[in-house]
Amino acid sequence: MHTTIRTGTDCGAAIADNCLVTANNEPILSYLTDMDGVLVHEDHLVPGADKFLAELRDNGTPFLVLTNNSIRTPRDLQARLRHTGLDIPEEAIWTSALATATFLNDQRPNGTAYVVGESGLTTALHEIGYVLTDSDPDYVVLGETRTYSFEAITTAIRLVERGARFIATNPDATGPSRDGLLPATGSVAALITRATGKDPYYVGKPNPLMMRSALRRIGAHSQSTVMIGDRMDTDVIAGLEAGMRTVLVTTGISTRESVEQFPYRPTLVVDSVADLVGRTGTPFG
Ligand SMILES: [Mg+2]
Repeated sequence: MHTTIRTGTDCGAAIADNCLVTANNEPILSYLTDMDGVLVHEDHLVPGADKFLAELRDNGTPFLVLTNNSIRTPRDLQARLRHTGLDIPEEAIWTSALATATFLNDQRPNGTAYVVGESGLTTALHEIGYVLTDSDPDYVVLGETRTYSFEAITTAIRLVERGARFIATNPDATGPSRDGLLPATGSVAALITRATGKDPYYVGKPNPLMMRSALRRIGAHSQSTVMIGDRMDTDVIAGLEAGMRTVLVTTGISTRESVEQFPYRPTLVVDSVADLVGRTGTPFG
């Protein structure tokens, strides 16, 4: 790994004069990129996102597309993305459901879980050999769904009360839709927490665990990987905490102005991933 001695503001206020940091011009070998707000808006392509991904593919740069949404399987997402004009292989999609399954497989292989969620989550858990049951499961795993039932939530609450470990795929309180906000996993988790007094362990962003499992998935190293996202409070902080350099795009939630309100900042802010086309190998100059 190349390092260089830098001085002054590059090093942060806590370190005086000289400090050792990873050079910003170290070659970029791989990319992690958030999906919604970066590559697509719901069912619409962010202009230039196709060219950005094409450049990564043409250069043989490994990349993974990340989403905190655990509703769909990578295959379903691939089809949805193809519809918008993005051709992304199934293997290049990393969901919070896959990250959760990887986490549980590491923690307690061949375990049991009661799942409140959709096929994205149930498929991921089946694939790691988990048995889905409401009979004394190791875990209650909560994911995103559009068909929350009072009955399923009641079952989840009783199982957590009796000692099942409470896991949730992602902390997002709301999600976007054409008609306005939708309650998301974090809001339903709050309901279960209120009833049981127990907080879930959230696997998805901003937990850097999701980034680390994504890096492992493509055999990448944090020092030579860039995380691209549209949110300071999830994508940028998670990338930062996982040891990556970060790019904030302003095609989604966070604006250039909002960056100053956070105690951390991305390595680079650009208007869109389209601005990275032609320089994905050296995005920081
Ligand atoms: Mg996003």
